[in-house]
Amino acid sequence: MDNLLISSCLLGLACRYDGGWREYDLKELEKKFNLIPICPEIYGGLPTPRVPSEIKGDRVINREGVDVTAQYEKGAKEALHLARLFNVKCAVLKAKSPSCGKNAIYDGTFTKTLTEGDGITAKLLKANGIAVFTEEEIDILLEK
Ligand code: SF4
Repeated sequence: MDNLLISSCLLGLACRYDGGWREYDLKELEKKFNLIPICPEIYGGLPTPRVPSEIKGDRVINREGVDVTAQYEKGAKEALHLARLFNVKCAVLKAKSPSCGKNAIYDGTFTKTLTEGDGITAKLLKANGIAVFTEEEIDILLEK
């Protein structure tokens, strides 16, 4: 069975910025893949709960104005390290997150406004040949 990276907060682990999570029905995914949970923001050294952050230009800034780009980049590198260690070709990452989001992320204004772009980890994984899906695209992945 192939290995698959998956955002920990999709598995019911309470690692989200507000200490929350949402458990998805991943039974079909589990039949096809070994799920390897990752949380890049934790790997980057950030606490839970933490001040929410958004990407603004080439930086990641939290709602208090603190630049947390270094933590996000560290977390992304750790996720890539795990992907290589487990020979991962695909990942299912939480939509809209400044780490895990794919194609659409919040625009840095903290007004729930989406803009085109990838989270820091999704971008690094994609650049290294890993196919990234959001939790809304699991059906597409299962059809492959
Ligand atoms: Fe979930 Fe990714 Fe945010 Fe961690 S960094 S809480 S895995 S969306």
